[in-house]
Amino acid sequence: MPAETSDNSASCLIVGAGVTGLLAGCRLREKGHAVTILDSERAVGGRMSTIEIDGAHFDHGTQFFVGQEGEFRDLITQWEEAGAATRWGGRFLGEQGHDEFRTAARYCGAGGMSAIAQHLAAELDVRLGQEAVRAEMTPKGWCVSVATGETYSAQSLLLTAPVPSSLRIIDTGGVELPAEIEKGLEAVTYQPCLVLLALLDGPSGLPEPGGIKLNSSILMWLGDNKIKGVSPGTHAVTLQTSGAFSDTHLADDEESVKNLISNAAIPFLQGIIKKSYLHRWKYGRVTNVFDAHYAWVDGQCPVAFAGDAFGGPCVEGAAISALRVAERLADYLG
Ligand SMILES: Cc1cc2nc3c(=O)[nH]c(=O)nc-3n(C[C@H](O)[C@H](O)[C@H](O)COP(=O)(O)OP(=O)(O)OC[C@H]3O[C@@H](n4cnc5c(N)ncnc54)[C@H](O)[C@@H]3O)c2cc1C
Repeated sequence: MPAETSDNSASCLIVGAGVTGLLAGCRLREKGHAVTILDSERAVGGRMSTIEIDGAHFDHGTQFFVGQEGEFRDLITQWEEAGAATRWGGRFLGEQGHDEFRTAARYCGAGGMSAIAQHLAAELDVRLGQEAVRAEMTPKGWCVSVATGETYSAQSLLLTAPVPSSLRIIDTGGVELPAEIEKGLEAVTYQPCLVLLALLDGPSGLPEPGGIKLNSSILMWLGDNKIKGVSPGTHAVTLQTSGAFSDTHLADDEESVKNLISNAAIPFLQGIIKKSYLHRWKYGRVTNVFDAHYAWVDGQCPVAFAGDAFGGPCVEGAAISALRVAERLADYLG
């Protein structure tokens, strides 16, 4: 068992600083509980974030979200009022020129998806570059070890990483889950998503408001980060591929995948790709969800699992899962 680092204790330790972990952390903090959030990456936001490459900015996961009513609608209003979210208005055309989304208003981060995560994280104790590798039960509570060798302890544990990663953390610590919960968690599945982030030598030529939805075998979405206001100074486009293409080519060598995506995009782009980067989301979109808003394992100290695999395969689903699990954790912590 690793030695505990006493100044790293919290009443709730959260693994994952995506929208689920951050939102749950905010709710628990508002109720007066000590929260520490660990994330393996160098920035917050997970699949709802913006990355910078060579001075260009790309929303490389979530492109937009909708929320017409209820609690998620209220959250969007709060994010808008805080200047973190903005409406991404207009009609998005498909390949045939049809309006592809007949839903109500779409929203995104103001100046990039990361704005929302940064807003949520502002008052939280978030430790970046901390990849959780093992969670163990000790007489005092949970003890999580990270790849750098540090340990964090807490009365309760919330795992919001993609479910296979969360299960690995638990398994490595030798923690046994109730059979029914384990079965449900193991049944969660994801589809990967290969995304090409491309810098063009001029305007993309994509129509306002800066994105088109396709139904081709390779490409499913082209987003112009300049028109969207994410990358004002550079012609930076996000090219998202279909589930079938991503499944087939997930492990292929980088150059061949880049060529396939670039060639498929030529008919849709005015500018020429001068540089590109491939991002592989191994756990991209949830294809089979857990049958509840979170999974809860009771015990002397509880552990919970939450995220879009629980609430539904989108930002709204992740947010609702976060709100529900935070309520349950707050009840436990008193
Ligand atoms: C390409 C793409 C496009 C999408 N487009 C849309 C869209 O347009 N609209 C929409 O609503 N949804 C979209 N989604 C889905 C949406 O992004 C997710 O539903 C949502 O962001 C999930 O949030 P989360 O917090 O549950 O998970 P995540 O965002 O995955 O957060 C999990 C966090 O855990 C961290 N982590 C993982 N393992 C460890 C570990 N061992 N130790 C520490 N930290 C760890 C990760 O770094 C990550 O920050 C898209 C997803 C992808 C991949």
